[in-house]
Amino acid sequence: MTDTPALPPLREVIAKHGLRAEKSLGQNFLLDLNLTGRIARCAGSLKGETVIEIGPGPGGLTRAILAAGAGKLIAVEKDTRCLPALAEIAAAWPGKLEVIHDDALTIDEATLLDGPAKIIANLPYNVATPLLIKWLKQRGRFSSLTLMFQKEVADRITAVPRTKSYGRLSILCQWLCETRREFDISPRAFTPPPKVTSTVVTLIPRASPLFPADPDILEKVVAAAFNQRRKMLRASLKPLGANTEAKLEKAGIAPTRRAEELSIEEFCALARAYAETA
Ligand code: SAM
Repeated sequence: MTDTPALPPLREVIAKHGLRAEKSLGQNFLLDLNLTGRIARCAGSLKGETVIEIGPGPGGLTRAILAAGAGKLIAVEKDTRCLPALAEIAAAWPGKLEVIHDDALTIDEATLLDGPAKIIANLPYNVATPLLIKWLKQRGRFSSLTLMFQKEVADRITAVPRTKSYGRLSILCQWLCETRREFDISPRAFTPPPKVTSTVVTLIPRASPLFPADPDILEKVVAAAFNQRRKMLRASLKPLGANTEAKLEKAGIAPTRRAEELSIEEFCALARAYAETA
């Protein structure tokens, strides 16, 4: 067990540093140390691991990650007001916590890391999906991503075909990663409470994508198909310009099927058909 240094209760930290939650920064703080510990445990053993946390805020999850034995924690926070509170945690865990005052959307992760890392974060909801997409593009750097989203976004990440949540995000995430829903957290657990339930999801990047396909072509095919998700594919794929029926036939997919019925394997077959010039 790692010895956990004594730090003041989070409510005291928030009061002392005047951390009134800012809606524009997606600030809903988790003050329940049982829950922050549970989130950290979803990422597996952290012993000696390098971890990136986005949006540490007053530092509840930060403390849990350090207490779980992380070798090094790099925490990226945009809000200047949180820095003194985070400096107190850094002082209590000498050499373990590096706080970076920056915007996670624009930061270059390559400059932060010299080896593989785990990401753990209670994400600001207004930028959660763009951050996830940014990380998927450089997934080789990360051994796992344990992230809290609005439940509706978690539903989309983990959705299977023939459900209303199944779409572009499901296909992108599951093509590139194993996805695991961990648990839901009620709005009441946060200060202030958000309007919706939250869900923790773990994504483990695959060594290679689930089925072969060119990523840009797959993205175009999936976007066109779901842009008009109720239409038959022979109509929804028309904007792609090629001979739609021929491409569907090549992929072995009936032209009367609709986007939400297609498996990831079938979307990849379709992307390969569109990759052929004839
Ligand atoms: N981790 C804390 C917790 O669990 O209590 C706070 C989570 S709160 C949902 C989101 C945090 O992300 C806030 O501290 C906010 O200031 C920070 N944040 C918002 N946008 C950010 C951005 N673009 N880059 C880095 N941090 C950001």
